Amino acid sequence: MSKIRILPEILSNQIAAGEVVQRPASVVKELVENSMDAGADRITVEIEKGGRSLIRISDNGHGLSRDEAMLAIERYATSKIFAKEDLFSISTFGFRGEALPSIASVSKFNLVSRTRENDAGTRVSIHGGKLIKVDDTGAPPGTMVEVRQLFFNTPARRKFLKAEATEAGHISDAVSGLAMGNPKIGFRLVMNKRLVKHFPPGQDLFTRAQMVLGRDAADHLYPLESPVESRGAGQGSGIRISGVCANPSVTRSTANRIYLFVNNRLVHDRGLVSALFQGYRGRIMKGRYPMGVICVDLPYDQVDVNVHPTKREIKFLSPQPVYQALGRAVGQALNSAQNDVLAYSMGPAAFAEIGREVEAPAPQPDAEPKTFYQVRPAGSRTPSGVAQKEIRWDAPRKEAAPAGASADAAPDSDAGTGINTVSDPQPDPAPVIEDFPATESGPPTLSRASGVSLRVVGQVMDTYIVVEKDNHLILVDQHAAH
Ligand code: ADP
Ligand code: MG
Repeated sequence: MSKIRILPEILSNQIAAGEVVQRPASVVKELVENSMDAGADRITVEIEKGGRSLIRISDNGHGLSRDEAMLAIERYATSKIFAKEDLFSISTFGFRGEALPSIASVSKFNLVSRTRENDAGTRVSIHGGKLIKVDDTGAPPGTMVEVRQLFFNTPARRKFLKAEATEAGHISDAVSGLAMGNPKIGFRLVMNKRLVKHFPPGQDLFTRAQMVLGRDAADHLYPLESPVESRGAGQGSGIRISGVCANPSVTRSTANRIYLFVNNRLVHDRGLVSALFQGYRGRIMKGRYPMGVICVDLPYDQVDVNVHPTKREIKFLSPQPVYQALGRAVGQALNSAQNDVLAYSMGPAAFAEIGREVEAPAPQPDAEPKTFYQVRPAGSRTPSGVAQKEIRWDAPRKEAAPAGASADAAPDSDAGTGINTVSDPQPDPAPVIEDFPATESGPPTLSRASGVSLRVVGQVMDTYIVVEKDNHLILVDQHAAH
């Protein structure tokens, strides 16, 4: 019979690293979360060769004394929970006490930390899980963790690393995600000694979302608010929804620009994604993904975050009220955005005939079953009764730079992340929408200064304006028109 033995510590740490550290971006995530848990409001991420040769995270958090630094690198050493009950009220990103020892077991690792009370800092060096040196060193208050040659001692893992640009893309996405959920914290991402991202501290979520979601979405984001039902007492109470969602005409071919935060933690959750789609139902094309930053806050005891070592999975104690609240919040935001901005002016008489919903043409075999086409009657008032608006093409162009987007903070590029960038076609000159009282005196026209006359017929799928010109029917993408 085989002998049962306790695994040596280095080996057990390497096994844990198999789950916690899947790629360089996971190291970045764990270390940045540690910095945020330490109260830092300035975090710098430096990367070389897509994180293969160097990952360095520096922060201005509370730092560690020498004794604490020695403990921090032990497995199951954490300052974040103490008792079983704490597991159900976790407000920190970390709590499992395994990231530092796991990372240190598969890399050449240095931790330098200093508290404000101490004059000297401490440096701890570990190679492949073996403690090499602990000494005093000069250091600013805060913590710096340096991870060199990731997976140098686990060649199978190293072999699975992707090309430098791909790993760099994952790191960039990870930093954007963390920055989005924590807009008050300043982040800098330096790749191969070049500053590639800069999120200044003290921002709000809307501004961060504009910076991260990309130029085409920046001007088409709508704030989310908790639906009324989840604010009061009863089922679903205590669930707060906030964040932003993008106009349905600005989409991606993957879900990479859907950011889900539950109690501030960036998570994956299929149920939340479905709920988001539910809110967009009938508004986006099949096979396309909306963009948004969804923040769900609920009492800590209503969600289990201890599902997987990466802490990206969660389990809601009662998922349905959460999903319903999100679906409604998104639907509500899109409805009111549409009422405010996209109320197109049309003559009522022309559309008396088709002033009702019409079924889609013969359903295609692979058509989404719930999709229907809706023609909004010309001249109808919007459901909220807001004054209708006239679209003029001949007015001077209004420049709308995304608020808060600084020159050195490039909006996320889709390079290397498998996302199709959707360009923002701007007609020249861009149309402006002006308040225009609803009128009974026949259909106003959509006309260019050149004298071309167009007649707005209606709106379909909440996305396209149907326009008649001579004997032609034209579909105008609302987003582009706006
Ligand atoms: P966890 O975050 O789950 O507690 P880690 O292994 O990631 O486990 O970190 C272990 C401990 O080291 C933390 O609980 C914290 O006390 C300390 N620590 C790690 N990183 C930092 C940091 N950047 N600043 C201050 N303390 C840190
Ligand atoms: Mg941690």
